[in-house]
Amino acid sequence: MISDPIVIALTKGRILKETLPLLAAAGIEPLEDLSKSRKMIFDTTLKNVQLIVQRGVDVPTYVEFGAADVGISGKDMLLEHGSDDLYEPLDLKIAPCRLMTAGPVERSPQKGRIRVASKFVNVAKRYYASKGIQADVIKLYGGMELAPIMGLADQIVDIVDTGNTLKANGLEPYELIAPISSRLIVNKASMKTKHASIQHLIDQIAEAVQQRNPAQQQSNSTPPKYIFTQHTKSSNG
Ligand code: AMP
Repeated sequence: MISDPIVIALTKGRILKETLPLLAAAGIEPLEDLSKSRKMIFDTTLKNVQLIVQRGVDVPTYVEFGAADVGISGKDMLLEHGSDDLYEPLDLKIAPCRLMTAGPVERSPQKGRIRVASKFVNVAKRYYASKGIQADVIKLYGGMELAPIMGLADQIVDIVDTGNTLKANGLEPYELIAPISSRLIVNKASMKTKHASIQHLIDQIAEAVQQRNPAQQQSNSTPPKYIFTQHTKSSNG
């Protein structure tokens, strides 16, 4: 039972619609339609539980600093946020895609430093450094595919799903940096002080994820060895 007050930070946009059924399975439903309201904080069918709706990039910050106890965040945002101060107990398997390097199909030979455009500047810097490649990373906020075409960058680091956007712009994926999906994250202090409530929430959501993806096993104890997993930890690790 959820007996402590819990604030859950949700990511607005494409993953919100898939998140709500998972919360509903835990008995948590917003009292009003999130998509029709300009509010950012919502009461729910459980009187202890409130939802806040934020941009994905801000969700890890709310949870890290304890302004929210629990959050739902894309792994891409967690990698970019890069904090050790969050537990990541559950893969929700929502919006699976890949974070990749990409560039022109006609790959020119690499001499010296390369220029990389990305919204994921921290991930890109760590990735190229780990490969021993000297890269100047420049921040763009969208439409990454245009950068190599216009000579702004040699490569990009971006989310790839079908690869169609890259292909349509004469680009192709190069290297996989990390598989991405949405994760449940928990504030470290909340995990201790509100343990029973949060564990109950995790268990119920885990069951809902399992029911939705019956072919796949949830495994908290042996997380896959993604690049950069050291930046987030499971609650039991
Ligand atoms: P695609 O053409 O299917 O490879 O989709 C790539 C574009 O869609 C990229 O520019 C991404 O920004 C966006 N995209 C696709 N899937 C996701 C996802 N699961 N999460 C965030 N962005 C995505």
